[in-house]
Amino acid sequence: MLDVENKVIAITGASSGIGEASAKLLAQNGAKVVLGARRTEKLEKIVKDIRSSGGIAEFKAVDVTDRQDMNAFIHFAKEKFDRIDVIFNNAGVMPLSLMSALKVDEWDKMINVNINGVLNGIAAGLPIMEAQGGGQFINTASIAAHSVGPTSAVYSATKYAVWAISDGLRQESKNIRVTIISPGVVETELGSDISDEASKGFLQKLRKTALTPDAIARAVLYAVAQPEDVDVNEIIVRPTASAF
Ligand code: NDP
Repeated sequence: MLDVENKVIAITGASSGIGEASAKLLAQNGAKVVLGARRTEKLEKIVKDIRSSGGIAEFKAVDVTDRQDMNAFIHFAKEKFDRIDVIFNNAGVMPLSLMSALKVDEWDKMINVNINGVLNGIAAGLPIMEAQGGGQFINTASIAAHSVGPTSAVYSATKYAVWAISDGLRQESKNIRVTIISPGVVETELGSDISDEASKGFLQKLRKTALTPDAIARAVLYAVAQPEDVDVNEIIVRPTASAF
């Protein structure tokens, strides 16, 4: 039994890929989902689809790099449904490149979205969860939080940071569950912002063996559905045939 009925779950990066698949699966299982991302036309359509299948969903535009915007998103979810059970800090970007290419603006972007976005979600949600006496953060890291390779130095650094922030928060929390989701290669829009030609080819090769986003959504559902005294700390999900 995977019981997530009536749980209020705010999801960033919900306009595509893993966030979209998770929102749909959680809503199918009775959760009240609040979707956030920048592309509101995509969010609107996903929410419409969820509602037309009988699910409960809302959406709000959010740029996770903006602390006030993130705070407004989390408070929107709380005002809609009176509480927040789960914040899924999932938004991320991955413009891979060699360090020598000096794509310093892309480094900044990864740090801002992948690290500061997660911190902004925690800052917005932690006081609410502490006042409620419970809650759960699910933060999307990656297999890149466990190893680094050429072109992924900065991306991996951001995901190592997500891992460290999540585990530190876990250690400090008595009532709040903290889960790290670490996907292997998944076929999504991630990497569409790669500007480095060599890295584009590398990603195409990686994607020859890839999961679909629903594989990660099932892991998220599993982590949320555990009893409150069970904190699934990390789930790593790779394609069976993948060596990475
Ligand atoms: P997608 O590109 O499909 O989804 C990324 C999401 O992040 C989009 O919804 C995008 O929405 C959102 N996003 C990006 N920047 C911002 C921002 N500034 N503010 C708000 N939302 C933002 O990729 P995935 O589904 O694959 O990525 C989800 C997570 O999974 C990421 O953290 C990624 O690093 C991680 N991951 C993915 C893997 C893969 O192989 N796909 C492997 C390991 C980890 P919008 O543009 O509308 O704002």
